[in-house]
Amino acid sequence: MSAMRKEGAYSRRFAASDAASSVVPSNDSPADSRCHNSAVPRRASLMQEPVLVLNATYEPINVTAVRRAMVLLLKGVAQAEEMHNAEVHSAAHAHKVPSVIRLLAYRHIPQQSRALSRKNILLRDRNTCQFCGRIFPSSELTLDHVVPRSRGGRSSWENLVACCYRCNNSKGDRTPEEAGFKLARRPRPFTLHTSRQLMRMIGHRDERWRKYLFY
Ligand SMILES: [Zn+2]
Repeated sequence: MSAMRKEGAYSRRFAASDAASSVVPSNDSPADSRCHNSAVPRRASLMQEPVLVLNATYEPINVTAVRRAMVLLLKGVAQAEEMHNAEVHSAAHAHKVPSVIRLLAYRHIPQQSRALSRKNILLRDRNTCQFCGRIFPSSELTLDHVVPRSRGGRSSWENLVACCYRCNNSKGDRTPEEAGFKLARRPRPFTLHTSRQLMRMIGHRDERWRKYLFY
């Protein structure tokens, strides 16, 4: 069953990498796959700061981590548009830490490739359980299939919501109607609007992102 396989694939991804950064899926950028570059220093926290990725046309298309962004810069695939006032040091060089980078060659990004991920669903739902309406830390939330998988409910933006463990347990294998639950709001499909909204939420602390996202 392809639905099952998909499910397995993304749970595995979450387990491996809640901290691993991409808002939009990592396969968005061919160059940022498993690229090991010894010139990129390892300094955990700073290296995982979010970096806004713009297409060659300045359209915001992705958020990645400093580490990946620096790999793209070193490979000459992207150039830095905005920098932090911080540097990271490798053996031979000091590198300014990018805040916004731009791909040098235009990349066509199909809408459908936007990542359905636990992190993105939680961001969309603002860490709010969609049944009891309370806000939780990410670690205390799970994803609920509004229409249960056993009833043919899919793992999609429209059928997955943030849900606290308590509501998830009490809902069980039922639809919200059957369980007497009401959704805080209808889960929205992923659109360009969602994508911008996610990027804004992730980048709200970084002034340098503003001019690329708020228009
Ligand atoms: Zn709840």
